[in-house]
Amino acid sequence: MTKPLFDTLAIIGVGLIGSSIARAARAQGAVRRIVASAHAPKTRARVVELGLANKVTDTNAEAVEGADLVIVCVPVGICGMVAEEIGPHLKAGAIVSDVGSVKGSVVRDMGPHLPKTVHFVPAHPVAGTEHSGPDAGFAELFEGRWCILTPPEGTDPQAVEKLAAFWCLLGANVETMTPDHHDLVLAITSHLPHLIAYTIVGTADELQTVTRSEVLKFSAGGFRDFTRIASSDPVMWRDIFLANKEGVLEMLGRFNEDISALTKAIRRGDGEALYEQFTRTRAIRRGIIEAGQDTPVPDFGRPHGHED
Ligand code: NAP
Repeated sequence: MTKPLFDTLAIIGVGLIGSSIARAARAQGAVRRIVASAHAPKTRARVVELGLANKVTDTNAEAVEGADLVIVCVPVGICGMVAEEIGPHLKAGAIVSDVGSVKGSVVRDMGPHLPKTVHFVPAHPVAGTEHSGPDAGFAELFEGRWCILTPPEGTDPQAVEKLAAFWCLLGANVETMTPDHHDLVLAITSHLPHLIAYTIVGTADELQTVTRSEVLKFSAGGFRDFTRIASSDPVMWRDIFLANKEGVLEMLGRFNEDISALTKAIRRGDGEALYEQFTRTRAIRRGIIEAGQDTPVPDFGRPHGHED
C-alpha cells in the first residue's frame, strides 16, 4: 500500500467529481482520511450511505478544520462564496484546490478569501460524464485523463508538485498553464461543443415539420450524441458560460465565420471545399484516438460501464 500523500482530505461538494475523487483517493491510498460536506441534507445522507467519507459535516467550514488538502467540487458560480465560508477555518500550510471547468473566474473569486498561510493551487480534471450527484462518480474517472493545474504566480512549487503527485496517483496526467490560456483551450474543446449540442437539441425540439417521435426514432444519425451532451447538468453549464464569457465568445466568433464558409460552399455546390474540410477534420479525430483520449462510446466523458 502506498504511503498516503496527505493525512486529511476535505471534499466540499460531493457530486460526480467530488465523489469520484473520494473513491479514487481511497482506492489508491492517497489520503488517510476523508471529510466531506455537501449542500442538501439528502446529499449528505447519501454520502454517508455510500461510505464515501470518514466524516460528513453539516457545514463547509467544519469540513476543512485540520485538513491538509481541501478540494472544492461545487459549480463554478459559487466557488467564491464557498471560499469565503472556509477561509477563516483553513489550517496553515494546507493546499486549497478546486475542480472548476473555468479557471480565470475561480482564481478571481476564490483567491481574495483565502488566507496567505495556505497554498492555492486551482485545478481542472478534464474528465466527466453528463451525470451528476454522489451516485454518478467512479474511481476510474480520471485514469488516462488530463488534470490541468493553474497556480497563480508566486505559488510555492512544492505545493504544486504535491497536488500534481496526488492527481497522478488518481491516474491522471498533469499539465500546468495560466488560467486564461486554460479558459481559451477549454472554450474550443469543451464549452463550444456543449453550446452547439444545447442549441441543436433545442432547434430540433422546436421544429414543426419533423415530429418529436421522428427525431427520437432516427436519432442514431448523429443527433443521439448531441442529446447525451445536452443532458449535462444545467446549473454547472449555466455557470461555465457565465464564467468563461470571453473565451466562449472568442471561439463562437471564429465558429460562426467557419460555418458561414461551409454554408456558402453548400449553397454554391462547392464539393471540393466540403471534401477538403471533412478530410482535415477526419485527421483530427485520428489524432485524438492516437493520443488515447477517446472512449468506446461517443461522448465527452467515460460512462459508468454502461450507456443509457
Ligand atoms: P454535481 O454532480 O452537480 O455536484 C455538485 C456538488 O456541489 C453537489 O454535491 C452539491 O450538493 C454541491 N454543492 C452545491 N452547492 C454547495 C454549497 N454551497 N456547499 C457545498 N456543496 C455544494 O457537479 P459535478 O459534475 O461534480 O461538478 C462539480 C464541479 O466540477 C463544477 O465546478 C464543474 O465545473 C467541475 N467539473 C465537472 C465535470 C463534469 O463533466 N461534470 C468535469 C470536470 C470538472 P447538493 O447535492 O447538496 O446540492
